[in-house]
Amino acid sequence: MRFRSLLKDLPEVEFSWDEPLSGHTTFRVGGPVRCLARPRNERALSVLLGQLRECDLPLIVLGAGSNILPPDQGLDVVAIKLNICSSRILRQGEDHGGETLIYAGAGTTLRDVIRYCVRNELEGLETLAGIPGTIGGALIMNAGTSLGTIFDCLTHIDLFDSMGIRRQVPRDELKPSYRSMGIPEGSTVIGGSFRVRKGSSEDLRARIREIVDRRKKNQPLNFASAGSIFKNPPEISAWQLIEKAGLKGFRVGGAEISKKHANWIINRGTASSADILEVIRKIEKEIFGNFGVRLEREIRILGQS
Ligand SMILES: Cc1cc2nc3c(=O)[nH]c(=O)nc-3n(C[C@H](O)[C@H](O)[C@H](O)COP(=O)(O)OP(=O)(O)OC[C@H]3O[C@@H](n4cnc5c(N)ncnc54)[C@H](O)[C@@H]3O)c2cc1C
Repeated sequence: MRFRSLLKDLPEVEFSWDEPLSGHTTFRVGGPVRCLARPRNERALSVLLGQLRECDLPLIVLGAGSNILPPDQGLDVVAIKLNICSSRILRQGEDHGGETLIYAGAGTTLRDVIRYCVRNELEGLETLAGIPGTIGGALIMNAGTSLGTIFDCLTHIDLFDSMGIRRQVPRDELKPSYRSMGIPEGSTVIGGSFRVRKGSSEDLRARIREIVDRRKKNQPLNFASAGSIFKNPPEISAWQLIEKAGLKGFRVGGAEISKKHANWIINRGTASSADILEVIRKIEKEIFGNFGVRLEREIRILGQS
């Protein structure tokens, strides 16, 4: 009730109350948040962030939910989605070296941005093909593969900081690392600018097809999942350790360690968040017990301190 009475009068924000997160995660699990808020424009987002700060209401920002595990019992938070207010892809101009600057709002999907690049014969971001997140989530996570990361083409990020101040953070002020851009907690990313090069649509399509085909071959894409669960330790891949420990196919309820890719947990249809978490803990225990390696989680588990 408190959330509803404090927020309901905000203009230009679409609210859904007690919205289950299972409809907003690629794992297809997660109980309700108190409120899902979709601001219609950037000003409405700024007003919403100010109100949440003033009323001391906790918030999370959701992208495509492809790297999170929310609890079954839900969360006492406002979840903000930016797919309406930050959904623009714009050409910002050419520079002298023949490169082009494009801007993509945090709520756009990587897929749409890559499609835009193919249509406009711009190369650089196609290495991210097949990653099912938004620009906002990809910037927070420094999403990528062995082919490259989103940081490679990035020139700056636009965000609201934890005090609600709109800032532009240039590339050289960021601290990117493996699956992290080092953006301070409490920031709401609203978009990023990327420097891309002139390419040919035909070559880009061929490259993307190759990347996507390789993914289909090696990844269990027919099941709900969140991609890789753990970061790869420096010396060896996480999937190799999990496979060596004999854990492929290990199952709790509807959550199973994929037989196709051992660093993925798949939802066979009936998994709860608790099932998935139990599998994650089992892997951590076994890998530490067998090899003395503490795996670091890539997935973000919500509602845990
Ligand atoms: C099938 C599959 C394949 C995958 N393959 C890869 C891969 O090859 N490489 C890779 O790096 N990842 C991969 N992933 C993981 C995931 O897609 C990426 O981490 C992606 O960047 C997450 O984006 P998202 O929009 O879904 O973010 P979410 O999962 O919604 O959020 C991730 C984190 O970012 C925060 N966040 C999201 N948007 C914002 C914002 N605008 N402002 C502030 N915080 C925000 C969230 O609060 C959360 O902490 C894969 C996932 C799946 C399901």
